[in-house]
Amino acid sequence: MVSWDDSVECGTTACLPPNNPADLDYLVKGLKNKNDLDYKYTFFVRHEYTDYSVVENYFAAGHDIASHTVSHRTPVDYFQDANKTRWEQEILDQNKIINLQTTIPVETITGFRAPYLAMNEVLYEVLHENNFTWESSVPIPFPQDCTGECMEQIWPYTLDFGAGECDPTEKCPKESYPGLWEVPLNPVYKTGYKCDQHCDIEGLMAPYPGEQAATVVEGLEYNFNKNYNGNRAPFGIYLHTSWLSDKSKTNDTDTTQHAIGLRNFLEGLAAKEDVWVVTIPQVIEWMKTVDPATGDGADPATLFAPAHLPERQPARCDVTNNTACKGGLKKDWGYACQYWKTCNAECPQLFPWIGNVDGKGTPKGCFSEGLTEEQVDRRAEDDAKEEAAEHVAFSRGGSQGN
Ligand SMILES: [Zn+2]
Repeated sequence: MVSWDDSVECGTTACLPPNNPADLDYLVKGLKNKNDLDYKYTFFVRHEYTDYSVVENYFAAGHDIASHTVSHRTPVDYFQDANKTRWEQEILDQNKIINLQTTIPVETITGFRAPYLAMNEVLYEVLHENNFTWESSVPIPFPQDCTGECMEQIWPYTLDFGAGECDPTEKCPKESYPGLWEVPLNPVYKTGYKCDQHCDIEGLMAPYPGEQAATVVEGLEYNFNKNYNGNRAPFGIYLHTSWLSDKSKTNDTDTTQHAIGLRNFLEGLAAKEDVWVVTIPQVIEWMKTVDPATGDGADPATLFAPAHLPERQPARCDVTNNTACKGGLKKDWGYACQYWKTCNAECPQLFPWIGNVDGKGTPKGCFSEGLTEEQVDRRAEDDAKEEAAEHVAFSRGGSQGN
């Protein structure tokens, strides 16, 4: 399983190379499972900065689109302390917005991950009541005091009896949510990491920062082999979309060392007869077929065969002929400029948001009393930069992924 968090876009900060994410060229091309099925990934889509024409293309190509809230805002307490109404608005409105900006049916959005992994008990109630079938916000704690080799990744599980292993500082679910699956966030470690050494482990969702491709491959293979030669739990790599375009330390000019490393690792998997790269819900679908007595599950070649998958509507456009929209998002000083792209022919007046998922109303575009449009634009950019800086601070803040 490979999953991607946050905005899905083809732009300057978080584009899957080589700037043509409509078919995930670089990370999919030539990489096929045994039944001629392209590798499939899961995307946790946040609203702001997302290019919905790309999302529509990913879905049409068979990737999984999951929810990651509308606002994704800070501070973390906004989500950590969220009540039922707030969770419902953030989660269900994001599903509606995805649906309205693409052709993706709401009922196919079955999974969720909380921003900053800021979960609480109410979140699980909301997911369970609204027919989500899986969730992925519970981080497996980094070992602080243990001996020997670092642990294998653990299996996804149902929340019939609350969360399994969980960092005691996190608000992990304790109640029963029958049928709702948890896909815990297992960390990946540096090659050769041992628990009895100091805990110099990789960030949960931004591993191998600034490292060369060879180090990325070596690290991912080391972690993968622990499961492959050990408990055989599905191996997960959970990344931010921005991880792929991180050139901060390597000074890459084109495809990043992170992307090359991940591609090389995935190429290595294609050579293995018994490894499948599929979406998170596909892994759960397979796990449901496992016979507890024998440990045998359905043949993935049949289960994941293209012929077996529900048909999806082709994307209505691609990144070359999408519609560029500009809408205002209400702030205390006016309407901040927001830009996004969609295969819809028409743009709404306002930026779709919580409580106004179709973006109806006035004014059209962005506006503020006494400010020119350029000044409004700059103000919105400053807001975005401030938020991005907070976001980076969180993703580098140790065990907190986001
Ligand atoms: Zn996020």
